Amino acid sequence: MNNAAREKLQLPEGHSQLLLHSCCAPCSGEVMEALITSEIPFSIFFYNPNIHPVKEYLIRKEENIRFAEKHNIPFIDCDYDTDNWFERAKGMEEEPERGIRCTMCFDMRFERTALYAAENGFSLISSSLGISRWKNMKQINDCGHRAAQHYDGIQYWDYNWRKNGGSSRMIEISKREEFYQQEYCGCVYSLRDTNRWRKSQGRDRIKLGVKFYSNAMED
Ligand code: SF4
Repeated sequence: MNNAAREKLQLPEGHSQLLLHSCCAPCSGEVMEALITSEIPFSIFFYNPNIHPVKEYLIRKEENIRFAEKHNIPFIDCDYDTDNWFERAKGMEEEPERGIRCTMCFDMRFERTALYAAENGFSLISSSLGISRWKNMKQINDCGHRAAQHYDGIQYWDYNWRKNGGSSRMIEISKREEFYQQEYCGCVYSLRDTNRWRKSQGRDRIKLGVKFYSNAMED
């Protein structure tokens, strides 16, 4: 762990622990190590009913469990309620990434995170979602704040996990841990759109479950 390059994090005033929504191991690896290094108590909350198909969902979840167990971090495995996700996505099937379907998707995941926090004694929530450069951080933070506002005493921590080398450490950790490397955001529509793009580039369709980060990889 490259602790020397990390700043010691402090939770916002008045909070003693964090409920961290995690989308996957590669994104949460750096966030988790930053929290561990800073001696901040936290639990992982895995709620991602957007991920399709179930094979991909289970691979991403198992990678996250493996890393949480390695560090003795509590892992809360929440519902895979895909029916609700598809119901909420109706009419947004053709929306581009970072559009309103993604706002719905972030809202849904943060709403469940905030609900769990309110019912289980957490006063602070955050997410690994924002560390990816592919994501719109403002869009994610707006969703996080919106979800937290539903509950008295729940705050969303909009810490920028990308800064001070967070983005590059995210890749370093993924390679070191040889995490599974997903090749699309998660939902069936992002899988479709990524495959369309790959076809336009003369590339093969995505093969699930075959690509892993490695120190020997080129990209
Ligand atoms: S592209 Fe990603 S963030 Fe957007 S709806 Fe699909 S899974 Fe959710």
